[in-house]
Amino acid sequence: EREVDPVAATGELAEEAALRPRAMAEFVGQPVVRRQLGLVLEAARRRGSSPDHVLLAGPPGLGKTTLAYIVGAEMGVPVRVTSGPALQHAGDLAAILSSLDEHEVLFLDEIHRMSRAAEEMLYVAMEDFRVDVVVGKGPGATAIPLPLPRFTLVGATTRAGMLPSPLRDRFGFTGHLDFYDDADLERVLRRSARLLGIRLEPDVSHEVARRSRGTPRIANRLLRRVRDYAEVHGDVADGGVVTLDHAREALALFGVDELGLDRLDQAVLDALCRRFGGGPVGLSTLATTVGEEPETVETVCEPFLLRRGFLARTPRGRVALPPAWQHLGLTPPVREVG
Ligand code: ATP
Repeated sequence: EREVDPVAATGELAEEAALRPRAMAEFVGQPVVRRQLGLVLEAARRRGSSPDHVLLAGPPGLGKTTLAYIVGAEMGVPVRVTSGPALQHAGDLAAILSSLDEHEVLFLDEIHRMSRAAEEMLYVAMEDFRVDVVVGKGPGATAIPLPLPRFTLVGATTRAGMLPSPLRDRFGFTGHLDFYDDADLERVLRRSARLLGIRLEPDVSHEVARRSRGTPRIANRLLRRVRDYAEVHGDVADGGVVTLDHAREALALFGVDELGLDRLDQAVLDALCRRFGGGPVGLSTLATTVGEEPETVETVCEPFLLRRGFLARTPRGRVALPPAWQHLGLTPPVREVG
């Protein structure tokens, strides 16, 4: 289970936690997921029962953890937090499940990274609210059924496609979170600025929003860097206002380009175009070239580049599309057709 570092929790982590919307009404954007999940929760509340298990899928930083806490808050129950990598043995999962209270929410982050044994135990727990504790080994081993309280599992994954279908099918509702548009990110930023007591010139939220890769977590992080810059180079500490120049200079300092691409995005595009002539190139070769794990490139970096039409995934590997070349100030090579 996740532990919060007491030192870090007084700084940036505490601020990030303070910015987390606590109720569905505060959650900005994602109108489809909000309406669907809102209905599931409202119906369960009226019936006086626990909602069905919920799966939340989408790239990092779009609000999966936030929504899991909102499910707990809306149902008036606590949320227990764990993650796939923490559940390497079925016993780890059994210990958590058997200590849940009636109606509690269990948030399982990175559910695609659970061990096979834990996954199989989870199937039974989700469906029959039971775990089978195996006692003994070999032919003499027996499974003792242990009834569980009625709980709601909220699973989160950046890779819904990697979940085996028996697991996917056991969720009553799947919410697909998509990148936010600039208007919604501006609302996120204005809300965060208000909560942090930062005064922004009107154009600042627009400038930061459009360079935040469609991601609230990035928007909030850039806002904090812009605030740092304005406090050091301006007079905002005395109630002054963060200006557009502060924002632009801070974003330039932190290597966020005009379209919001960060160091990793730029490195991937650069390798793809300059090193590999636009591809096709395999994911692991590309990841090694930029010095990152393939999973990071695939789940953190690529979804946004795909969405913006910079690259495509083909059966033979990743290829650069014309906007990538243009963004780097290069001319795409003329390819022979046929
Ligand atoms: P990861 O998969 O990396 O854990 P996540 O999808 O769980 O990411 P969250 O931790 O829920 O993302 O969100 C990151 C931050 O972005 C939160 O601290 C919250 O302040 C902000 N945020 C996310 N979604 C919204 C939203 N819809 N409205 C306002 N703020 C949001």
